[in-house]
Amino acid sequence: MSDLYNKLEKIVTDKYISNDIYVRHAYSRNVDLVLQGVPDIVIRPKDAEEISEILKVANEENIAVIPRGAGICEFGGSKPIGDNGIVLYLKRMNNILNLDEENLIVTVEAGISWGKLNEYLCHYGLYTGCMGPGSGMSASIGGGISHHSVGGGGCAKYGVCTNQLVSLEVVLPTGEIIETGSQANVYSKFPFNRFGNGPDLAGLFCGDNGIFGVKTKVSLQVFPKPEFAEYKTFQLPRKEREISAKIMTEIRQKGIDVYDTMYIMDLIVRYGIEENFMPLWQHLKKKRGVIFYTIEANTEAELDEKVKQLDEIMLNNKAEFLGPEISDGNLGKWQYTEGNYQFYHNLWGIFPSMQPLTAECFAPINQYPAILNDIDQWDMEHNEDIRKIFEITKIRSIAGSGPVLLIDGNNVEITCGFTSFWSYYNGEVHKFIDDINQKLWESLLKRVTEAGVQWYMMGDFMSRLMVDIGAYSEEYYNLMKSIKKILDPKMILSRGKFNFWGEK
Ligand SMILES: Cc1cc2nc3c(=O)[nH]c(=O)nc-3n(C[C@H](O)[C@H](O)[C@H](O)COP(=O)(O)OP(=O)(O)OC[C@H]3O[C@@H](n4cnc5c(N)ncnc54)[C@H](O)[C@@H]3O)c2cc1C
Repeated sequence: MSDLYNKLEKIVTDKYISNDIYVRHAYSRNVDLVLQGVPDIVIRPKDAEEISEILKVANEENIAVIPRGAGICEFGGSKPIGDNGIVLYLKRMNNILNLDEENLIVTVEAGISWGKLNEYLCHYGLYTGCMGPGSGMSASIGGGISHHSVGGGGCAKYGVCTNQLVSLEVVLPTGEIIETGSQANVYSKFPFNRFGNGPDLAGLFCGDNGIFGVKTKVSLQVFPKPEFAEYKTFQLPRKEREISAKIMTEIRQKGIDVYDTMYIMDLIVRYGIEENFMPLWQHLKKKRGVIFYTIEANTEAELDEKVKQLDEIMLNNKAEFLGPEISDGNLGKWQYTEGNYQFYHNLWGIFPSMQPLTAECFAPINQYPAILNDIDQWDMEHNEDIRKIFEITKIRSIAGSGPVLLIDGNNVEITCGFTSFWSYYNGEVHKFIDDINQKLWESLLKRVTEAGVQWYMMGDFMSRLMVDIGAYSEEYYNLMKSIKKILDPKMILSRGKFNFWGEK
């Protein structure tokens, strides 16, 4: 065993560290198939103190450390960039530390999943507001906060998960442990507010993609789940992208606090029916896109009033109500009452051998139709490359969008990208397909970036692409780099993201 390994083993004991080849490979990638990087060591600490010790050793040895929650980043963020480094696997830290029922604040270890936390909270009639990402059954709270995740239900009402953040415990790259918000005052007895005691330093770590520190303890605001709810699904008329955006804008302009509103494009409805992964739509005659809303209220009268306003918007825009039952195609009811926040995960397995090369991002409501139209245009412009894959595999890649989710303010989360053949295909041919896919993915991401979107999950691929294509202003990038240098002089934490390499 190396000297490094021995030092780390002393910190966590031999049960929680490994350099076995199969363990290293198991932690060498995220959901995408292409961005692989094999770590030297995988380590599973139990608390902030152990992480602090690990980071001190990593600094001495000048070796990269990559924090990893569930490892479901779609841009390769929770594994090394290239080979080497230590994967700091945080899922062992999955305890609920305190529920302050009076002040409605829960404090958890950062490795706990959104699913586990919300299962616990529901026994108290509470939820986390935004239920985390759509992947929240396994995705961790720490991963969500590091991405500004959004999407697992409640994202139109509560917005991104970092909106609910009250305070963080963070281990800085050099090993110091800090607490933010109300907890910056050593006399504070319990976390109660994020802002104050100086600048919003918690904000520095929100959406940082794991480059500024390791989140170990998270306090979140929680909310009582209202007693009444309604959920309706509608099929859209022609020009569905523009109409769905108009509907979302009108909902916001009228100030109706929908819990969720999602637009699902015609392509998904068609494939959902043809491939039978959306059985509740089998009876639909028109293969057009759908939109649904879910809305909550504290009284029946309040609910009736909100539903009336929402139905009026739908009707005025010629959207057709599919019926109240799940069997009528009411996706909204299926999603809300049965907790199917993850339905769009089906897209990951839409065809065996296909892989979504995602371009998930935030955009203003009134710009998403143009962005989706441009992705169609991009698809046509890249037909030649796409055909090269088709000629080998007989499977054509599909560009487009999964659901478009209304989130905070006048914004949506667009789950767009292209789904392509990306399975193993024997030696050189595989490399050929791999290279084309990577080139296409990069080109699509560049195109979507140039539409002015905002990336939130950036990981390895997207964070470096932003820098490589000059999408950050020089001043902004330099500021980020200066902060990184102060916090992490050797740039060991998530080395290489945003092209912050340090001395390798
Ligand atoms: C099928 C599917 C559906 C998805 N749906 C959504 C969605 O609806 N909305 C959405 O936002 N995302 C979605 N995602 C992407 C992803 O799952 C989420 O962003 C999720 O929050 C990542 O959590 P994780 O625990 O897997 O984090 P990881 O992938 O392990 O890590 C994410 C990033 O944060 C860093 N990190 C992780 N934990 C810590 C920590 N404690 N301290 C510091 N840094 C840390 C990592 O280094 C990495 O850069 C989806 C992914 C898939 C595959």
